[in-house]
Amino acid sequence: MELRKDPITRSWVITGDDVPESTPHAGACPFCGDSAKSLQVIATLPGLDGSPWSARAVVHPSPIYRIEGEPARRGDGLYDRMGSVGAHEVLLENSRHDRHLWNSSDAEVEQMLRLMAQRIQDLKRDSRFKYVSIFKNHGVSAGQEFEHPTSQLTATTFVPRRVLYELRAGRDYYDTKERCVFCDIMAQEERQGLRILEIRGDYAAFCPYAPRVPYETWILPRTHEASFERTGSSRVGNVTDLAALLRRTLQRIRTITEAFHLVLHTSPNSQHRSGTLGYWKTIDDDYHWHIEILPVLESKAKSYTFKEVYYSPVASETAVKRLREAKI
Ligand SMILES: [Zn+2]
Ligand SMILES: [Zn+2]
Ligand SMILES: [Zn+2]
Repeated sequence: MELRKDPITRSWVITGDDVPESTPHAGACPFCGDSAKSLQVIATLPGLDGSPWSARAVVHPSPIYRIEGEPARRGDGLYDRMGSVGAHEVLLENSRHDRHLWNSSDAEVEQMLRLMAQRIQDLKRDSRFKYVSIFKNHGVSAGQEFEHPTSQLTATTFVPRRVLYELRAGRDYYDTKERCVFCDIMAQEERQGLRILEIRGDYAAFCPYAPRVPYETWILPRTHEASFERTGSSRVGNVTDLAALLRRTLQRIRTITEAFHLVLHTSPNSQHRSGTLGYWKTIDDDYHWHIEILPVLESKAKSYTFKEVYYSPVASETAVKRLREAKI
């Protein structure tokens, strides 16, 4: 497998003829019991209330990116290509097979958030990596890979396209206004109160003004912070509010649908300063970390699979009302 860049949209894709790996033995969870012994454990957070551990990072059993080597970025006429060097980890959210983020205690969710912060901090020390992504696909229609409650992490030698859009937009907004666009969005949402789902301490959950899918929900800090990992490694108390808000938001969304995508957007690795892209100069002021949750609605799937223009047949104002009223 290798990475190739689309010269028009400038987005990188992983492509090649993949050799299908032998399918894992059905039934047995690769992260529980005996099969877990062969895992390459990277980091473990201590257990709570007698559990062996609370959150753990392991190497993905069949990684898309390989940690060894150099990306060896090279030209091919007008094209760009590089090796699929990177990190691909599975973040186990709980030692128990049936404890998901929405039915865990706040303390357990907090441990998971702290693990996420630790892994990002650690991987950002590797100068080959420009970005660390953390995402979760839950439910068959969302492309869930494992039964065990997990998220996944990738560290890549490029910044993923959607994040690049956000970085450019954040920088452009800051260039003209000297303000963070996310802070401005948050201030207006709090003033209007039309799309705010819940506020908990320094964190807010809201349905964005122009959603890509029905019930799309974002969680972000109300005071400016570019890097999730700085928040995630901060003092006790602060992260507890975030954990509770994440848990409660997922509970609400699950009253609408089982399946969802979740993605964490944080600042890129600022060890790399790029003159041409230039988005690192004001990064600490112009970018603002957030979690995006994109529910997958079976019945609506058809309407928004046509991705040239997002079509979201439930208005944010209606979505937020239903989510607010959800019995959790
Ligand atoms: Zn399991
Ligand atoms: Zn901000
Ligand atoms: Zn984002």
